[in-house]
Amino acid sequence: MQFDTLIIGGGLAGLSCGIYLAEQGQRCSIVSAGQSALHFSSGSFNLLNALPDGTPVNQPIEAFDILKLQAPQHPYSKLGKEQFIKLSRRAEQLLAKCSINVKGNSQQNHLRLTSLGKVSPAWLTCEEMAIFSSKTGLPWHRIAIVSFDGFMDFQPELVAEALKHYNVDASIFWLNLPCLEHLRHNASEFRSVNIAQLLNQPDHFSRLNIELSQIIQHVDAIIMPACVGLNNAKQHNQFKMHFDKPVMMVPTLPPSLAGRHIYQQLYHQFLSYGGSFMEGDSVLDAVIENNSVKEVYTRNHGNIPLSAKNIVLASGSFFNKGLVAEYGRIYEPIFGLDVSYDKNKANWTEENFFQPQPYMQFGVKTDTQLRGILNNQVITNLYVGGSVLGGFDPLKQGCGAGVSLLTALHIAEQIATKQGDINEPVS
Ligand SMILES: Cc1cc2nc3c(=O)[nH]c(=O)nc-3n(C[C@H](O)[C@H](O)[C@H](O)COP(=O)(O)OP(=O)(O)OC[C@H]3O[C@@H](n4cnc5c(N)ncnc54)[C@H](O)[C@@H]3O)c2cc1C
Repeated sequence: MQFDTLIIGGGLAGLSCGIYLAEQGQRCSIVSAGQSALHFSSGSFNLLNALPDGTPVNQPIEAFDILKLQAPQHPYSKLGKEQFIKLSRRAEQLLAKCSINVKGNSQQNHLRLTSLGKVSPAWLTCEEMAIFSSKTGLPWHRIAIVSFDGFMDFQPELVAEALKHYNVDASIFWLNLPCLEHLRHNASEFRSVNIAQLLNQPDHFSRLNIELSQIIQHVDAIIMPACVGLNNAKQHNQFKMHFDKPVMMVPTLPPSLAGRHIYQQLYHQFLSYGGSFMEGDSVLDAVIENNSVKEVYTRNHGNIPLSAKNIVLASGSFFNKGLVAEYGRIYEPIFGLDVSYDKNKANWTEENFFQPQPYMQFGVKTDTQLRGILNNQVITNLYVGGSVLGGFDPLKQGCGAGVSLLTALHIAEQIATKQGDINEPVS
């Protein structure tokens, strides 16, 4: 089986790279082993929330030059400032094209609430989520925080506590919807996606609306866990039509309904451009000759090789086995690419759990074009993007989604502009 571009990994990086290339007319396929970090996403995309030295960032573009000085190996530093600005804009356009409606921009981070009552900065946040500005705070004084009796994946008391610091009068309401009764008896089933599935039925949703309409009379806005809108924004739009005050969501603990929705939109957009998606298949091995990937082998295709002019490795970090840690060794399991990590295992972690953990910055080494390196030799048709890359800390620097989107689009742009790569019949 032959393709123009074969992408390994169907997370945010793999899908956004694939969408760009398939739209350009490339014969493009994604092999994806399983769920990605998107299924655990907060519904917010981070671009840059803090510099490596811990200084908070409000304006990611303004902070670029200092980031580059502090972290020359950061993927953003490799892209350069011009690309950083251009690709963050292009990422926003890509999401809009996929009908992923978000608020925010790369000029100025906004604030969002987490399910555990933390206030966290973000670049872009799904439209239905509650966000506010760090300068002006929340525009509502009286807020009802509504949850479902017995639901553990959202803590209204913690959210109310966080809002107090913003001069908000927050009151908590527990709903006891009869349709959720059987979920309540099994804590492991009482999850956001299961609730959304039940509330997707019109009579159950009407009952929710009746309960909310009684609460909303006494407040300026409602905040509730993101358990509404199983497959699309239809129910959020109905809230807008029914109520003259906002009903906003806060992410729950995983599984993430917003993340699931983002994934579905990206996936369908990729297919709509003619991309092929090999779901549940894993790339196991590859043949490299003359510093170029000739063939890859997957679990489902056995000894039938897949080949492509360009290969993109977007297999994620430790979380999705894009990187594997063994005692004293960290490796990239498909190609055995060079990985940057400290050979002294004692230095992988920091004793204080709340300090940046060094292993978070470990990842695959690349040249400035984001091509993988094997035994110090650049593999000329193998690009590496997303969280499998090294040189950044997605948690402490708050740049996870940004690195995945921007590196994926940078790679896609390079592949698309390679002479003769577009629309050329595959031999
Ligand atoms: C739990 C979690 C939650 C996060 N939430 C946020 C958030 O809310 N906001 C934010 O900005 N950042 C978040 N991040 C940071 C996150 O890393 C990025 O946002 C981004 O989604 C990562 O995308 P990716 O495509 O690089 O990797 P992943 O999402 O990890 O995707 C990698 C994909 O590759 C597949 N794969 C792996 N090996 C193979 C193989 N051999 N063959 C075929 N397929 C393979 C995996 O199955 C997976 O589908 C989160 C990270 C984690 C781990």
